[in-house]
Amino acid sequence: MYLVGLTGGIASGKSTVSSILRELGCPIIDADVVARQVVEPHSRAYVQIVRHFGPDILEESGAIDRKKLGQLIFAHDDKRRLLNSITHPEIHRAMLKQILLYFLKGYRYVVLDVPLLFETRRLTRFLNHTVVVYCDPATQLSRLMQRDGLTQEEAEQRVATQMPLKEKRGLASHVVDNSGGREDTHRQVLRLHTALEDSMEFLLVRAVAMAAAAGLGGILLYTIKLLVS
Ligand code: ADP
Repeated sequence: MYLVGLTGGIASGKSTVSSILRELGCPIIDADVVARQVVEPHSRAYVQIVRHFGPDILEESGAIDRKKLGQLIFAHDDKRRLLNSITHPEIHRAMLKQILLYFLKGYRYVVLDVPLLFETRRLTRFLNHTVVVYCDPATQLSRLMQRDGLTQEEAEQRVATQMPLKEKRGLASHVVDNSGGREDTHRQVLRLHTALEDSMEFLLVRAVAMAAAAGLGGILLYTIKLLVS
């Protein structure tokens, strides 16, 4: 099995591309969904967040109010770091668990849908391919304004907080250019899907896993022989 990272910029079309890949049958792990799951009430991260940030960041239901928490850490780097140090290990553990499940089910690859893939760079060394969903700046701005009901100024501010899409495009091994129509994007995703399906990289990981399993089996046999002799 091998890993593919999928990323983009705000409103560049990452969700659009990831839903096409999902329809094509690709196993996708959505980092945003995992990030929400790991802070569900009474999880390990939840308990630590409430301990450090206090009960004011909770909704009446007891769930974490992500908006309030976001506002709390917005201008405080130390608080943001603290929150990340609580959530990131949990997110990575949960993603690893899902990857292993897909591996055991026999999938050749898994797509990790991660918005800040190149900003945090934590996962990039584990990835065999990286896909950036690009779109030109004017299109990105107008789609963002339309989708989220923002003024041009607000949209520009959101885009400015991210790594420029052009820079991300330069770091990726595959680019889906979503500046045009949906049909055009669909065609590009079909080509990407074919390339992923045709790749033989999964064989290497399977061979390593089989060799490791054989090695473990050998050690086990040797130990049993020593014990019974
Ligand atoms: P992201 O997940 O990167 O934030 P989305 O996939 O949600 O971006 O796309 C942003 C907005 O642009 C959405 O409203 C989506 O429906 C629209 N959109 C995406 N791709 C296209 C396209 N090729 N043509 C027209 N609109 C698009």
